[in-house]
Amino acid sequence: MARIRTIKPEFWESETIGTLSFGARLLFLACLNMADDEGLLRWNPSYLQSNAFVYDEVEHSQILEWMGELENGFVFPYQAGKTNQKLAWIINFRNHQVINRPQPSKLPGPSIQNSKFRDAIYERDKNICHLCGNEVVRHERTNISGSKAPSIDHIKPLSKGGSDYPSNLKTAHISCNKSRGNDDMNDSVSDSVNESVNDSVAERKGKEGKGKEEEIKTLSGKPDPIPYQAILDDMNATLNRQFHLTGDFKKLVKARWSEGFREPDFHTVCEKMQIKWGRDPTMAPYLRPATLFQASKFDGYLNTEITLSDKGVVSTTTQRNMDVFERFAREVENA
Ligand SMILES: [Zn+2]
Repeated sequence: MARIRTIKPEFWESETIGTLSFGARLLFLACLNMADDEGLLRWNPSYLQSNAFVYDEVEHSQILEWMGELENGFVFPYQAGKTNQKLAWIINFRNHQVINRPQPSKLPGPSIQNSKFRDAIYERDKNICHLCGNEVVRHERTNISGSKAPSIDHIKPLSKGGSDYPSNLKTAHISCNKSRGNDDMNDSVSDSVNESVNDSVAERKGKEGKGKEEEIKTLSGKPDPIPYQAILDDMNATLNRQFHLTGDFKKLVKARWSEGFREPDFHTVCEKMQIKWGRDPTMAPYLRPATLFQASKFDGYLNTEITLSDKGVVSTTTQRNMDVFERFAREVENA
């Protein structure tokens, strides 16, 4: 089902987008509408043609050519499901879309055992460990303990109902992932040349030696390291600012962190308030850590509703009328 999506002004200035041909660029925009809330969509030329180029006569081979352009870093093509359906994941989808109430995907996601998919996740995350904020080292030849090699971390662990869908996956150092304790380690798939995927599956099932179990136990006592740099980078990227890693910034982040807020919460606050205030010259100056991360406001910002008028899709008058209508519809429903 097609959905309303947002396109940031940066889209048109992006050098990577600029490398695409006109057709591929248009197809990419159409993909945003066709994708579900995970950024997944059907990836076959006939489907794309009939949805994106309804009134155009476009050669099959031309569609394939544009698809090829997009497969070069914009979408991740894969096959999944009983019928080996051809699908694709828009790699930076969640970086660009604010999804208020994400609907679970009805399409199967890429397999986490697929090393190319893991590579796409690392690239999406710019090779930054979301737990410590430092860079991961791809293909490093070291042993598992203390390794800076990357692994895939589940934000919400599988054991607590988390999924293998891309929005629940983050890049983390194997060592950082381990230090979070057993629960999360059970969920991780690591990437190190000394450790094949099968080994790591075996590890997940707890078939490994005693030495390592002990190591995990001692490390699990440590508190979560706060990824200040990653939160700052994400904030700067989301707000298009150049804030610095100051003591005040750390103080604010640390305070919210101790209240139980985590990285995705900081991201959501920045993203939502950017949509609300970004185009309003009186409010835009308040898009700064001191305002967004303050104790009395943070949770409110996190839970603020993004309306279509915030997104610039409809006027404020239309939004007011829609609100009135929605209230009316709800009253009728409850009557
Ligand atoms: Zn790390």
